[in-house]
Amino acid sequence: MNVDVQAAPAAGDLSLEVPEIARVGVVGAGLMGNGIAHVCALAGMPVVLMDVRPEQLERAVTTIAHNMDRQVARGAVTAEAKAAALARITTSTEYAAFADCDLVIEAGTEKEEVKRGIYKTLTPHLKPSCMIASNTSSISITRLGASTDRPEKFIGLHFMNPVPVMKLVEIIRGIATDEPTFLAVQALALKLDKTISVAEDFPAFIVNRILVPMINEAVYALYEGVASVDGIDTGMKLGANHRMGPLELADFIGLDTCLSIMQVLYEGLSDSKYRPCPLLVKYVEAGWLGRKTGRGFYDYTQTPPRPTR
Ligand code: NAD
Repeated sequence: MNVDVQAAPAAGDLSLEVPEIARVGVVGAGLMGNGIAHVCALAGMPVVLMDVRPEQLERAVTTIAHNMDRQVARGAVTAEAKAAALARITTSTEYAAFADCDLVIEAGTEKEEVKRGIYKTLTPHLKPSCMIASNTSSISITRLGASTDRPEKFIGLHFMNPVPVMKLVEIIRGIATDEPTFLAVQALALKLDKTISVAEDFPAFIVNRILVPMINEAVYALYEGVASVDGIDTGMKLGANHRMGPLELADFIGLDTCLSIMQVLYEGLSDSKYRPCPLLVKYVEAGWLGRKTGRGFYDYTQTPPRPTR
């Protein structure tokens, strides 16, 4: 376990009661929401998965079952554990379904106005002790928390994609987050068998603050003609020992996501070193968003994917 020692509670501080998280709610049944529901259910907790779009809920349940089947095939999970975990997940299109939850993890669309709208509709349905965690990749936890009726029970819990596979979660306190909320969410992350990095509430936290500017720099290298797509990715794979090259990784994350994180860094830190590369902007404007649209820095209609420059 890699818990930041500075963030650990003072030894022997028995005055803090750590709230128990027995029942979890997840708002948003997209890519991240279904992964979060998957790991919570496998860890033995009843989970309510909610989305305003019923088709997203149907797709999420199918995806979770499919991903659990892969874990069963690898011997990581038994067929009985899979069946029990699936039985713990209930779905709903109503916020009222969260009435008994101890923690609601919000994994809605990465737009501040959408998240604020979710909290406004959600909070009247919650019990007063219920904590809220946002899975946001880049929006200020302090600002999101301040828009709710319980900023002291609001925290950032940033899972990585794909959630069942990636070991890391970042935990981010807003300025108002209280210690019991931090301790409860830390205990939950450990129960999910994750490794924790504690980040302060600065734009893009730890991983994206470092990773996405590296990707942006790789796009600049391409834009300035330093090297081809293959030259850049081969260079970083074999020269820096990265599993994926930065442009291949950009296509995997989604070029629109990479651009929006660069914009958050550029605006949030007011520093020109975070200027998004014009070529990245152009690709996004063209709708070349990476794997999900079939074309980014690679063309995915070919096997193996062909570099486009
Ligand atoms: P997504 O677009 O796949 O899913 C978002 C879901 O939210 C959709 O199903 C949408 O229907 C639902 N939604 C929108 N408005 C809603 C509302 N008012 N009430 C309930 N549901 C609503 O997005 P995602 O990739 O799963 O990202 C979700 C969050 O996780 C974002 O904050 C994102 O920044 C963060 N995140 C994403 C990744 C990633 O790699 N995709 C990684 C880490 C964190």
